[in-house]
Amino acid sequence: MDADIVVIGGGPAGMAAARAGAEEGARVLLVEKCGFLGGSLTASLVGTIGGLFLKDGEAIDYVVGGLARECAETLKERGQAFGPVPWEQTAVLPHVPWGLKKLYDEWSESASGLELLLQACLCGVTVEGRCVSTLRVLTRGGERDVKARTFVDASGDGDLAYMAGASMEGSPVQFPSMNFYMHNVNVGEALGAGLATLQTLIGDALETGEYDLPRSGGAVIPTMRPGEVIVAMGRISLQGRPVDCTNAEELTYAELEGRRQAVVLAGFLREKMPGFGEAYLADTPCRVGIRSTRRLVGRYVLTRGDVLEAADFPDGICHSAWPVELHAEGKVTVLEFPPPGKSYTVPFGCLLPQEVDNLLVAGRCLSATPEGQASARVSATCMAMGEAAGVAAAMASREDGDVCALDSEDLRARLMERGAIL
Ligand SMILES: Cc1cc2nc3c(=O)[nH]c(=O)nc-3n(C[C@H](O)[C@H](O)[C@H](O)COP(=O)(O)OP(=O)(O)OC[C@H]3O[C@@H](n4cnc5c(N)ncnc54)[C@H](O)[C@@H]3O)c2cc1C
Repeated sequence: MDADIVVIGGGPAGMAAARAGAEEGARVLLVEKCGFLGGSLTASLVGTIGGLFLKDGEAIDYVVGGLARECAETLKERGQAFGPVPWEQTAVLPHVPWGLKKLYDEWSESASGLELLLQACLCGVTVEGRCVSTLRVLTRGGERDVKARTFVDASGDGDLAYMAGASMEGSPVQFPSMNFYMHNVNVGEALGAGLATLQTLIGDALETGEYDLPRSGGAVIPTMRPGEVIVAMGRISLQGRPVDCTNAEELTYAELEGRRQAVVLAGFLREKMPGFGEAYLADTPCRVGIRSTRRLVGRYVLTRGDVLEAADFPDGICHSAWPVELHAEGKVTVLEFPPPGKSYTVPFGCLLPQEVDNLLVAGRCLSATPEGQASARVSATCMAMGEAAGVAAAMASREDGDVCALDSEDLRARLMERGAIL
């Protein structure tokens, strides 16, 4: 064995899985195709960490603990995140993507037993019976085979589970978006008068057709660095439908279209939005932001009803109070919240494929309907799922690697000892 556990993908789910697995005593190999960690939070400039908090009236408190909370607290201590900032019936934590990128470097270097392979992409899987035996990874030095006892798919797109033959669903998906940086913003003015009028300005522009705006809402998110905001107003469609980001040609189109939209949106903000008169488009991220592609069809499929009824599962591995946030039709984003002050749990069964015994799936490719995924996909929930997957993988790799044979009560007990809120 090259490792006890191989984790594919170093986004919020994969980083948490790798660190948790290593902290539980396993030898972990974390494979990430970018040159840095953080997934959508860093590679696609997602401006806030969502899913951390439960809002009950005016009171706001953490709804996830463990590594997600540690991540939030560390970024706040370093001045690289602030909040909670109330948003609709929940709250978010705006952050500086660079801060998270550096923190995840530190996490990967400080966890003993964790080996990191960057700029390395999973490209093949060998399955023997009901188990994954070997992964093929494309590195700059060529292809190499990697063997382990247990595997975690945190690729966001379910690459490993799909290649291993697990049942997946890919449709309908949500629109991808290209967020981008603007600099030289008068943030005080923008946050004061500006934010209140942004929705009105967007509505007016859509009505007059003066600007080709892709979405009827959106946000400008301050990073708290002088003059800097992240603009989240894009929406990339192809003939009116969401782009399929597992299709090479459509993904290429999405990258180009995302940058075209960034120019239009920056021009609109400069001309219309208070505080943006002298601002400029500083850069787009290295990759378009993908909300959903493939979803596992696992041992349990999380539904819209589970979110809206605040379902509490006996094998729950984390809580979430995030709404069903659907970017799936036209220019509108639909939000549906759990009952006020309530959260649902994500059951362990959402991480388990039906057909493969030594594989866990964590993050936005979890087993869920499109609506269930539209809630559970936010980054703090992905971190909590990843932590649970890493702990479960470590427990299983001490035996024969079969994650389905684990007692979920043992897993929950260990997660609570680690600080999870269950
Ligand atoms: C535009 C946009 C705005 C959003 N806004 C918010 C927000 O405000 N707050 C919030 O909390 N969430 C937001 N989200 C959602 C959230 O960012 C993601 O759902 C979350 O980051 C998913 O985490 P993940 O770890 O499952 O996947 P990802 O973050 O997608 O990470 C997957 C990682 O796997 C790697 N990978 C993929 N395939 C392979 C492979 N074959 N081999 C090796 N590595 C691979 C990728 O490079 C990536 O680093 C937003 C998403 C988008 C697209």
